[in-house]
Formats: sequence, structure tokens, C-alpha cells
Amino acid sequence: MGQDPLATYRDKRDFDKTPEPAGKAPHRGGNKAPIFVIQKHEASSLHYDLRLEVDGVLKSWAVPKGPSLDPADKRLAVPTEDHPLEYAEFEGTIPAEEYGGGTMMVWDTGTYENIKQQRGQAVPMAEAIENGRVEVRLSGQKVSGGFALVRTGKGAKPRCLLIKMNDEHADRRRKPTSTENESVLSGRTMKQIERDG
Ligand code: MN
Repeated sequence: MGQDPLATYRDKRDFDKTPEPAGKAPHRGGNKAPIFVIQKHEASSLHYDLRLEVDGVLKSWAVPKGPSLDPADKRLAVPTEDHPLEYAEFEGTIPAEEYGGGTMMVWDTGTYENIKQQRGQAVPMAEAIENGRVEVRLSGQKVSGGFALVRTGKGAKPRCLLIKMNDEHADRRRKPTSTENESVLSGRTMKQIERDG
């Protein structure tokens, strides 16, 4: 094995100060199907964190505007450090002075299917991410259907675009990031999570 994929995650955090999970070593989830989570994170600026279970960790992207169900929208998605699997159930408030300080909500979660193919062959997730061309079908409570994550540009700080694929779950009118503001884990709003401490 190469280096610990969670080293960056742990280096950025002081687990005596943040309620976030230190996490175990990379490991498979309990479900057969890999999980995804979209967390709403009110840090220095409000954004959503999309995380996909890949090879025992959560591959992560910060999506400033969150997902759109309209295939015409291209939402910026900035790759961030791998998170431990346990993070998918993290909800709470990170102290303001700590890394990522602010309130975090489990806005949506479920399982996903890797649907990326090349010349009729399935492309493993790690390879699809490496190639900057991810295609997944999400099965969540707020967000479902095909999404593409396409890398744009090169360099040390790659960026991606998160785009809804044109399928039966595409919807130009429904805007879940505006209208569905409660945690799928606890039913709480951001304010309630913050108040609960
Ligand atoms: Mn975040």
C-alpha cells in the first residue's frame, strides 16, 4: 500500500478541539453498494460537500452552489481531501477557529452506482477520478439519478464541474438546495444543529 489516504484529513484537524470523527483506517462500508453523502457546510462561506465512497474512504468535492437537477447547470466542484467513511454520519458544529469551522448537516445520503464506461468496459471509480471523468447514478432522498463530474483545466488545483445527466430524474423546476433545508439524518435545520451544540 502507498501512503495513508487519510493523512491529509488528520493533519488538518485537532481532534481534541473538533467534534469530527478521526476515523478508522480505510475500510469498506456495511452496505454492499457504496454510499454517497452531500453535507451542507456553513463554513466561512456556505457550500455543499459531495462525498463518494471509493476504496474505503470518502472522495470529496466542495460544491459552492450545491447540486442542481437541471442538466443545463454546471456547478463548480473543487476536489478536497479524502474523508473517513465515518464522516458520512457527521453532523454538528466545528469550532469557528478550527479548520472548516462552522455547522455541518447531512443534507442527503444514499447509495450510488458507478456507471462510467469506456469502449463498453466499466471504468473503476479510482481510475475515473484520476481521468477526471466520473459518472455515477445516485439513489438519495433528495437527489437521484445520473451525475457527471468532469475535470476542467489542469495544474496543482484541479477543478471539476458537477452536471446532472439527462435522465428521468432531471428536473429544471425542482430546486432542492432552496426548498429542502432539513437534515435527512436528524430532520434538523442548520439553526437547530447549531443550537444543539
Ligand atoms: Mn466543507
